[in-house]
Amino acid sequence: MTMRKNITIMGAGLVGSLLSLYLAKRGHKVDIYERRPDMRKTVLDGGRSINLALSDRGFKALRGIGIEEAVRKVAIPMHGRMMHDEQGSLTYQPYGKEGQSIYSVSRAGLNAALMDLSEPNPDITYHFNRQLLDLDLRQSKATLRNHETGKLEELQTELLFGADGAFSMVRNAMQKTERYNYSQSYLEYGYKELTIPAAADGGWALEKNALHIWPRGKYMMIALPNLDGSFTCTLFFPYEGELSFESIKTDDDLLQFFLQTFPDAVPLMPDLAEDYFSNPIGSLVTVKCFPWSYEDKALLIGDACHAVVPFYGQGMNAGFEDIFVLNQMLDDFDGDWENLFKAFERSRKPDADAIADLAVMNFIEMRDKVADPRFLLRKRIESRISAQYPDKWIPLYSMVTFTDLPYSYALEMGRVQDKIMKKVMRHIQSVEDYDKPEVQKLLERQLVKKEKLK
Ligand code: FAD
Repeated sequence: MTMRKNITIMGAGLVGSLLSLYLAKRGHKVDIYERRPDMRKTVLDGGRSINLALSDRGFKALRGIGIEEAVRKVAIPMHGRMMHDEQGSLTYQPYGKEGQSIYSVSRAGLNAALMDLSEPNPDITYHFNRQLLDLDLRQSKATLRNHETGKLEELQTELLFGADGAFSMVRNAMQKTERYNYSQSYLEYGYKELTIPAAADGGWALEKNALHIWPRGKYMMIALPNLDGSFTCTLFFPYEGELSFESIKTDDDLLQFFLQTFPDAVPLMPDLAEDYFSNPIGSLVTVKCFPWSYEDKALLIGDACHAVVPFYGQGMNAGFEDIFVLNQMLDDFDGDWENLFKAFERSRKPDADAIADLAVMNFIEMRDKVADPRFLLRKRIESRISAQYPDKWIPLYSMVTFTDLPYSYALEMGRVQDKIMKKVMRHIQSVEDYDKPEVQKLLERQLVKKEKLK
């Protein structure tokens, strides 16, 4: 077995907590530091989204520590998108084939479950209320604020994982090293969480097993179900402009905007104004950086090295996949941490970049296109293609969500398939057109070409 190490994880979010379990399982001693209090004992405000969509990549990593089934039991499967138009009419679009779903889970519930699993493990110790303020990478020396005593504490680390999220202080220390590549870009949109409470009978006021979308070009609202019958809605809205976070100032402004834009949601949102004016506006950032490691001393993981916008529902899934991949690589590098870190960052970086780009692309799709009848027809034709040629065609959304194909491969194949779809759609006015001999021939020719690219 690899030599037992004293490992420090900075950040007890979803990724840090899961990582601690994987590392302890390999016999390492893990200390995990978190700036916030223990979320199981305190009600935290202003969290980043109340619920999240968990999909195959995330489940695969949870399977590795034996909690996939337990999490599925407290998650709500969402089999497809339910689109709400301006008149309140609904259109449903399945996400994948029969049996393929994404799952709505409580962020706090999942995080707490991971902590509960770690707690009895003598090799894992949580240190709450400890905030990393400064890190000397060369000396492996961290300075933390103990929020219980108000005092500063020095910590000597042997091997440090930075799982401290999109605004990582571990990454901040790496940024000060020579020739470090870093970029962050914000969308001009922010988000705000709102609530649709449970119906009077305690059930769900909308279809429970779907992700609801109100796509309106410049604005978009989505809603994911919670176990208690409520939905958490997220309004994506421009920061500035004629209708924006800046322009909505009063209850009346808000109600007028909602009645015009999301009329069928208004009767379901009795606390709309209170939620809107008391909840914070979250920003939407993409972070790219490289390298992710410093010698054999530190490695970034999860949002700390690849924060993505939430429109593919993959940020946490990608972070969990990081852990799965790293765990596999640990077998090959047997204690050679520096080369392990290098191999890991080299192998993962193209996939992290790909999911970052895919997530921004999906924003445009969700906001603008899902309401377009041509787009919906195209989706139906694409399902026909993938049903007819299951070995040769997996829709992009399915590659990302229901497989573990590398994100970079999904992005590349998605582009190839997009070109083919554009050619095919020139001949299609209705679903029936798909069976026309000229469409079938065109498709066959294109699939032969596509196979050669693989
Ligand atoms: P975080 O969850 O940010 O955890 C970092 C932890 O480090 C936190 O506990 C923080 O308190 C702690 N920390 C930070 N700084 C310090 C410090 N200096 N010292 C000590 N501790 C520190 N992903 C999905 O897969 N599906 C979704 O549906 C989805 N929806 C989303 C919706 C929204 C609105 C947003 C914003 C994101 C969404 N994501 C989704 C992305 C997902 O939230 C992140 O990818 C995921 O939380 C990353 O986990 P992490 O542990 O790397 O970082």
